[in-house]
Amino acid sequence: MKKSIIPIIIATILMIACNSKQEKAEIRIKNFITGYESKVIPVSREAALASWNANITGTDEDWAKSEKASFKLASIYTDSLSFAELKELKLSGLVKDSILARQLELIYNSFLGGQVDPALLAEQIKMETEISKKYSNFRVTINGKELSDNQIEEILKNSTDSKELQTAWQEHKMIGPVVADDIIRLVKHRNMIAQKIGFGNYHEMTLKLSGQDPEEVTAIFDELDNLTRESFAGLKNEIDTYFAKRYKIKVQDLKPWHYQNRYFQEAPEIYPVDFDSYYEKQDPVKLAAAFFDGIGLNVDSILVRSDLYEKPGKNQHAFSTDIDREGDVRTLDNVKPDSYWMNTMLHELGHGVYSYYCDRSLPFTLRDAAHAFTTEAIANMFGRLATDPVWMCDMGIISMEESEKIIPVSRTALRLQMLVFSRWAQVMYRFEKSMYEDPDQDLNQLWWNLVEKYQMLAKPEGRNMPDWATKIHIALYPCYYHNYLLGELLASQWYYYLTANITSSRSFVGDKSAGNYLKEKVFLPGSRYYWNDMIEKSTGEKLTAKYYAKQFVE
Ligand SMILES: [Zn+2]
Repeated sequence: MKKSIIPIIIATILMIACNSKQEKAEIRIKNFITGYESKVIPVSREAALASWNANITGTDEDWAKSEKASFKLASIYTDSLSFAELKELKLSGLVKDSILARQLELIYNSFLGGQVDPALLAEQIKMETEISKKYSNFRVTINGKELSDNQIEEILKNSTDSKELQTAWQEHKMIGPVVADDIIRLVKHRNMIAQKIGFGNYHEMTLKLSGQDPEEVTAIFDELDNLTRESFAGLKNEIDTYFAKRYKIKVQDLKPWHYQNRYFQEAPEIYPVDFDSYYEKQDPVKLAAAFFDGIGLNVDSILVRSDLYEKPGKNQHAFSTDIDREGDVRTLDNVKPDSYWMNTMLHELGHGVYSYYCDRSLPFTLRDAAHAFTTEAIANMFGRLATDPVWMCDMGIISMEESEKIIPVSRTALRLQMLVFSRWAQVMYRFEKSMYEDPDQDLNQLWWNLVEKYQMLAKPEGRNMPDWATKIHIALYPCYYHNYLLGELLASQWYYYLTANITSSRSFVGDKSAGNYLKEKVFLPGSRYYWNDMIEKSTGEKLTAKYYAKQFVE
């Protein structure tokens, strides 16, 4: 058969032209990345070190240095010429090489977030600072006595006097009217900023810039709602029966102040196991180091750089930080021999191994977790072991006999804790999403509709107060709360995958195959893949609520 040669020649010319266009675009992004890295690598290291020092010394001088370094880092992303270059390359669709395209996407998002009018940003920070001051200055006063949040929690946890509980709960909620109008103004301001750079609202912007699609997240929350609703209703009945007895009232007379917590975000202690007593004579640092070494993820070089014990002026909490993405990974803690710090050591070192065992031959931008919640998932998966009787037995902390004795009750307690938290996180996620979509709606009613639906708590009759505004995260740590729950879901998904396919040990103790799997499938890829692709590559499925439900519902 005779074929005309002309179309082949045209096709070849077009292909060459196309290839050279792609080549040119890829050279441009490579050059951009070289320039970008020369700025961002030293400055981000400087900022991480300054923040580390400030958290340890707590001096004004070190905090000022840290603030300055953070500002210097943030300033890199405000450059509008660089952004224009990135935007052109992104819209062209010509960067096809997967490593370059992924870097372009991540760097583009960082610069897009930096394109906010500095005057608007300054205004936002001013509003946030004012609100923050109002929260810190607010004190509950009962019978002429000032009470801290911790003291309110103490009353809610320990009192059995309904009147006293009601007063403590209601008085604590008086911060609501003090900040509510300010928060609505701030929400509208944040929305304006988001709209100026092309998003529908601030919630959508925050999720999308972090690489999350709000619809995808909502679908997972819906899935979890369906999987937990019935079990939660059953457990809620158990809780209600317990409390009706405790307060000597009828179940139908139970009010939100009867649940031992300001928001019913934590499980009431119906099934107590005194885990602290098992750790009184233990060293959580030694235990954690031995455990990680046993699964093939040695943490010695993290621990030598870390700051593990209490000091005056030091941050009283805990965190893990990757200083340079070159192996300088540290954790700040205030370790004591109890179950809380055992959990925290495993948690923080979980973050630590995720950073430490990344593939250092990847470009700087990709030497990071796939998402904030994926590193949270690893941290949670390890942290949970601290109160897992099987792990405690395998680590020699308790005897086999003791372990078997406490397995049923600790399982019920954990199940309760997880279910209560998951229903509360539903309220937070859905409230924030809806509030940013329409800040002018009746937010007081929206809040109680969600609390009634997801937490199954009855609104006190006739109550019309901005109770949503009493939760500081809504004003000051916006659109992040859902990540805590996504982290829990993924922790369960990996745990199930590991115990079903990789290791025969339920506690991972001494089994290097668990560490090797995590290294290869989770830590080494860094942020090379979109988080849900990484999850699919490592477990064969996208993120699902199924395994969380398996672990805590069935
Ligand atoms: Zn964490």
